[in-house]
Amino acid sequence: MDGMMGQEIDISIVCPMYNEAAMIPPFMAMLFPVLEKLNRPFEIICVNDGSKDDTFDRLMQEKQQRGHITVINFSRNFGKEAALTAGLAHAAGRAVIPMDADLQDPPELIADMVAYWDKGYDVVLARRTDRSTDRLSKRITAKWFYRIHNLLSSILLPADVGDFRLMSRKVVDAVNQLPENQRFMKGIFAWVGFKTATVGYVRDKRKAGKTRFNFWKLWNLAIDGVTSFSSAPLRIWLYLGIFTSLLSFLYGCFIVFKTLIYGVDVPGYASIVTIILFLGGIQLIGIGVIGEYIGRMYLETKRRPPYIIEGIY
Ligand code: UDP
Ligand code: MG
Repeated sequence: MDGMMGQEIDISIVCPMYNEAAMIPPFMAMLFPVLEKLNRPFEIICVNDGSKDDTFDRLMQEKQQRGHITVINFSRNFGKEAALTAGLAHAAGRAVIPMDADLQDPPELIADMVAYWDKGYDVVLARRTDRSTDRLSKRITAKWFYRIHNLLSSILLPADVGDFRLMSRKVVDAVNQLPENQRFMKGIFAWVGFKTATVGYVRDKRKAGKTRFNFWKLWNLAIDGVTSFSSAPLRIWLYLGIFTSLLSFLYGCFIVFKTLIYGVDVPGYASIVTIILFLGGIQLIGIGVIGEYIGRMYLETKRRPPYIIEGIY
């Protein structure tokens, strides 16, 4: 933890940034008045996640002009989950709020969140009451992700809630304590629990640039999400195996009786090939799912840190 001399920090904003140079001036211009109005000591931790544009220089400029800003500079792009992890580990505040740099998470909501925190809530979630600014494909895939995830996992992810939320010190300490380095933050946040309130907001369009997530990145995030918090995909194969074995046994009995009664029946090529291909496919999928978990175990056992920091400014 950073040694904060003198005044204790009340609110830490944690902001992962990847190629957000164009967003930084408007973002800070919106965020600072909101924080200043709260009249509490605050800091803004910006994690530069290996940006290829001049995000870093812009951040240093803002820091010089406004103060309150700490820049954690990664050695390369490690992804948003790693950037959030680093930001939370370095935040000193009694409450920490992660938010995106593209103003899709409206700073005005911070005041409402803090009000709930003052009332004794440890987590204040920001729920999108309207996702109409997201593309239809994103809305549909997001909806199905939450459905499937919550069906398979005992840790329920609240739908339409992103990383934008307030967490008290207790919650942040709990999150920081979790040792895994494959970090699916939404799942981790839900896993730690605590007394939770929700505030609603309408999500705006991204103010500049395009989303940093393509379909493939989101797909991988979804797989990470499900496999991090549930072993149900592994267990499914047990039941599928039992079910197919049972069917095979019944079919075997049928063949034996048929042969006993009607004699040997040579044609049967189609059914045999169908069954072999079907079972082969099932086995390959099963091996693939097991492989996914072994892969995660492999990455986890290497005990590599989730990110490397070039410097803190
Ligand atoms: N981001 C990051 N590292 C990455 C990708 C994204 O730190 O590899 C940050 C990005 O700068 C932004 C936040 O994560 O502050 C959310 O990204 P984006 O707005 O592109 O995602 P979306 O809103 O489309 O889900
Ligand atoms: Mg965004």
